[in-house]
Amino acid sequence: MQNILSTVSEYTDLSSSSNAPRACPVCAFGGPFASRPSPEGFHLFECSGCGVVFLFPLPSESQLASFYDEAYYGEERRKFLSPVEIGIAALSSLKWSRLQSLLSRGDRMLDIGCGRGALLRFARNAGFEAYGIERPSPVGHAVPGVLYKSLPECNFPDNHFQLVVLWHVLEHLSNPVATLQEIHRILKPGGWLSLAVPNYGGAQARASGRHWFHLDLPRHFWHFRRSSLEALLARNGFRVSNCATMSLEYDWYGTLQSWMNRAFHDRNRLYAVLKGSETNPVSKNLFRLTAASVLAVPALASALWDAARGDGGTLTVTAQKLAPEQVS
Ligand SMILES: [Zn+2]
Repeated sequence: MQNILSTVSEYTDLSSSSNAPRACPVCAFGGPFASRPSPEGFHLFECSGCGVVFLFPLPSESQLASFYDEAYYGEERRKFLSPVEIGIAALSSLKWSRLQSLLSRGDRMLDIGCGRGALLRFARNAGFEAYGIERPSPVGHAVPGVLYKSLPECNFPDNHFQLVVLWHVLEHLSNPVATLQEIHRILKPGGWLSLAVPNYGGAQARASGRHWFHLDLPRHFWHFRRSSLEALLARNGFRVSNCATMSLEYDWYGTLQSWMNRAFHDRNRLYAVLKGSETNPVSKNLFRLTAASVLAVPALASALWDAARGDGGTLTVTAQKLAPEQVS
């Protein structure tokens, strides 16, 4: 993370008024834009036109490469220590059981940002034609059956997929509108988009402010509340059929790490420990792991309480492609 901060400081001048955006990159609203709490070295602004909160300025394409390094992906794309990986695999199974209900025999699905392809394996084992795409890794650990290309480069046919999965990806993209339009093109009429993003309007984000784990700057460019996400989908030809705010995979840990960030004033060091990429002395890591074990149960209770009130840390949306004549 230290490398990222020093890289960002090269193009972000905290004192310069020229760093204020002139127009919203999502809806083209002309501003002015309210600044939002953000970690040192970054600027977040809120668009009063569409409600999106966005990082400005955005990193350049060449700078982006340094934010997705081996420390981000992990060795051979194994991202976390083994016990964490086992938990994530179990949650992938739960995720697939929900998505499978959107498919019928012979349907095709696409997982954008498919990681190591866990969903693809479930889908293929169930007899579906499944594709996955992922950002090329600088360390080159390719997973068989995954396309390491951008979505436009894949050039899929019109009306091709019954389901497109976009989990925790939209917030990373330099042009989310163009991506949604391309997904709309390749989905069949009536096909489904399953989308998940961190919930900027949720209790976890509100309570954590600039300490919020899922700000994840500068990799997360866009932050959505339920209203701003639903408006973006509607403008691009989708009807939201379901929006939930509970994600076991993200909310518990997001709460715990946000608390740790606030308590220790160092961003996401516990996360680095769990990924095995932390280089600080063992004594410092043990202190954080002890604190995390004490806070783990209260953090789970807090995340579950937020989700029970519809105020959880993740927006998980199922949206259906509308035909052109249905788009207002
Ligand atoms: Zn806007």
